[in-house]
Amino acid sequence: MKLHALTRLLFVTLLLNITIPTSFVSSEAAAVPSNRVLPSSSTANHSDTAAAVHETAAAQETTAAQETANANETTAAPRRSAAISWVTLERNYPGVFVTHGPRGKRKAALTFDDVPDPRYTGKVLDVLARYHVQATFFVLGSLAARHPALVKRMQREGHTVGNHSYNHALFSQLSQEQFRRQIVRTDAVLTPLIGYSPRFIRPPYGEVRPKQLQWARRNGYIVVNWDVDSVDWRSLRSRTVILNIRKTIQPGSIILQHAGGGPTQDLSGTVEALPRIIRLLQSKGYELVTVPELLGASPER
Ligand SMILES: [Zn+2]
Repeated sequence: MKLHALTRLLFVTLLLNITIPTSFVSSEAAAVPSNRVLPSSSTANHSDTAAAVHETAAAQETTAAQETANANETTAAPRRSAAISWVTLERNYPGVFVTHGPRGKRKAALTFDDVPDPRYTGKVLDVLARYHVQATFFVLGSLAARHPALVKRMQREGHTVGNHSYNHALFSQLSQEQFRRQIVRTDAVLTPLIGYSPRFIRPPYGEVRPKQLQWARRNGYIVVNWDVDSVDWRSLRSRTVILNIRKTIQPGSIILQHAGGGPTQDLSGTVEALPRIIRLLQSKGYELVTVPELLGASPER
């Protein structure tokens, strides 16, 4: 499951020669043109999906791609590209690169990327408050600078704030210095807002290189991806978001969702699904916790 987005991203990156560091594909996967069928790694079984590519920093839409995601549900193909699999990264960087928590306890973590976004983040926070559930938000520095009150609210309401880069850069295409600047610059925005330097980094698209993990380890960061992908960035209906989570959840899971995105992205399915996801998981005996709680680590660096 976790390889799907990566494989798809690599495929699309190669296919379209996307230069992503300056643009923002608002998902952890990537936009696909309408006439393409996703590679065999696709998780898609929906036909009503859309993806948007936009500039975050400039908030300027560049392109939007409608996707005929009629690919069938298949298993992930092995990654044959130069990129290193998450399994290998987890093995080589234990405690520094993680995709889930301990499997022995019935706990799971809700995570929301591409925030803050005034259209959706407040609504997600409202639902979490109503159910007294704490989650983890992976914040973009550029958006935090524009909507600081939403970041402060996350902190005030007991959620964990993590670093999702400054402008949704694709780390695997950055120099080490460019990568470092994405993290440090975001850190400089977040620290005064929340009172600590976030320990957790979620790489956009889940893509990270070994050298970057070495830097993360030296500097006290933990890079956290996911093992459950709601695929909600595709503007899915709530029932599909719920299904995507329900079919892959297991003890220790880290669930990827979005509470922000590009101008053409509709995350109302995510907002609508959230109360039902919380009730569903709790009815199955899951305790919903933040990523630091799940991993037994401090949210602060
Ligand atoms: Zn993202």
